[in-house]
This record gives sequence, C-alpha cells and structure tokens, in this order.
Amino acid sequence: MKNTPKIIIWEGCSPSVSKAIQRFEERWQPYSVSSRRYPIIRLIKDVMDQPIDEYIQTLPESYSGYLPGAGTGVKLSEIIRMVGLDGMVRMQRQLLRQFIKTADRQSRTDQCFIATLESLIGLVWDCSLKRPKRTTSTKGVNLNDQRKHGFCELCGSLTEFADFMVTVANQRINDVELEDHNKLALSHQYCSKHRPKLLNGEWNLAYRKAKRSSAQFHIELDRLNQQCANRSRILTMSGDKLIGSFFYQLMQRLTLQPADKAELRHLARRMVDAKLSDTKKKMLVLRKSGLSQTEIGQRVQNGKAQPMTRQAVSKALASIPKEFIL
Ligand SMILES: [Zn+2]
Repeated sequence: MKNTPKIIIWEGCSPSVSKAIQRFEERWQPYSVSSRRYPIIRLIKDVMDQPIDEYIQTLPESYSGYLPGAGTGVKLSEIIRMVGLDGMVRMQRQLLRQFIKTADRQSRTDQCFIATLESLIGLVWDCSLKRPKRTTSTKGVNLNDQRKHGFCELCGSLTEFADFMVTVANQRINDVELEDHNKLALSHQYCSKHRPKLLNGEWNLAYRKAKRSSAQFHIELDRLNQQCANRSRILTMSGDKLIGSFFYQLMQRLTLQPADKAELRHLARRMVDAKLSDTKKKMLVLRKSGLSQTEIGQRVQNGKAQPMTRQAVSKALASIPKEFIL
C-alpha cells in the first residue's frame, strides 16, 4: 500500500521543473505546513522558486499573466506566503482554465506550459495535505501514520477527522490542539462511511467489505493516477496490453486531471465495489474493438483458466455499470 503521497508530474512538463519536483520530493519527508523547523514553504523557496523562474524566462511575455506573480518577479513561495497553499491552488487553477479557454493554441510551448502548471498545482496541493513526519503521539494513536493525507484510506472522501478540520477549524493548528480533537474519537484513517466501528460499537460491514478489497483499490488507484497523467499513451504497468488499453480509453472519455485526487479515489473505489475484474476490463476492450461475445469468450479465460462460453461473457458484460462501458 502506498502511504506517502506521490507528486505526479505531467507528461510534457518542462524538464527543468520536472527535475526540481523530483528533488523536492526527495527532500520533503520532514516538511509540512505546521512544522516550525521544517516549514514546507521554505522547501518550495529553496528548491522550486529558481527553476520556475528560469522556466518563465524561456516563455513569451504574454504567458506571465497566467502565473501569479510572474509578471512582477514575485516568486512562487512568496505568493503562497500571501495567499496560502489552498488559495494558490484555486488561483492557479482559475488562471490555467482562462489560459486554456483564451490563449491556448496547442503549440508545443502551450502544451508544455499546461503540463507544467498542472504539475505545479499538484505539488502545491500535495503540500497542503502534507502532515509532519515527527509529532508527539500518545495512547497508541500514531499521528505520524494517520495524518499523512486527508483522505479516507479506502475511498475519496475526507477522513472524519479531516472533514471535521475543514468544517470547524482552519488547518493551521498545533499538535496539542490535535490531541484534544482525538477525544472526539473521529477517525483519522477513514471517512464516516468506512469507519471500522459504528457509533453503537458494532462492526461496520461497509468497512469490512472495503478493507478486504483494499489492495485492489490501491492497484486501481495507481493505474488511474498514472494513466491520468499520461493520457496520450497506453501504459503497460499492468503487464497486459488490453488492461492498459481499458484505462487509456476510459481516461480519454473522462475530464479528470491528476489533481482531482478525490474523484480519482472515488472512481477506484467504485471500480472495486462493482467487481470490475481485469477479465471484465479486457472484455470491454475486445467488445469495443468489434468482437462478438463468442469471440471474446475465446480470448479471455474464466477462473478455471478455460475459455468462456458466450453466455458467461454475456452475463459478465451485463453486470458492468454503465460508467465503465467503453
Ligand atoms: Zn471512505
């Protein structure tokens, strides 16, 4: 299972900015928003400001209007200091949308510009979710592990705790206050739907069910994330061209972006809950390419490693929710 958030670099992102993001990720482990010793804005300043600046220098002047501060020489870290990480994400999203609507001509420079901004938005967003590595913890509650990001481990909803924080408090709180919130027994790992025990103390069936498929959830999430950041080609990480092709075609149809982390997590959860196995994914691709159900049955195998009958193929295809049909 992947716990440390991975900053996704968009295909076509400026090479120097890509390298900076990789350097950033190598060093960011101890950094967070709330840490005094390791404030994450300082790391942005040390690692990102300069390469971004250099990248902007390579662009025609008209582009600088779409990067906050670029026209006036104000660095990324300084803007973030002024508007906050969340504010920066919102602002940059808006400017990027405007660029795509009005200025984008899909030239190489444009494509690189968009990919670079998307990658930077992702980085800033990940920073806002980043929690300190070392914190004081008590009574077996391991805050280090549980506060790595705001998402439920099993879906795209915020954890009960993160949800609480968003609604009630702002995110700049210290560890002592966090300890106090623990008394409310909000889950740091799961959303209210997936909390292990119900408020009456009984085990939650939704939790047990989702927990059993946790490994598959992370596999699908990883595939979705990677395909989302590399839309233009079929990825082969699954080891099977047809499965890769399924994710490629699915992503072509969706308008999701790597920064849409919640939606991607929800999608992975629905995929697993709908029992969309790799075999079914292959069937969908084969059907899309024009094969009959009988032909599909000859190309895929059932649980006993035998070809499938036309009836079995028909039944399997009929069980697939609409949103996954290619
Ligand atoms: Zn959940």
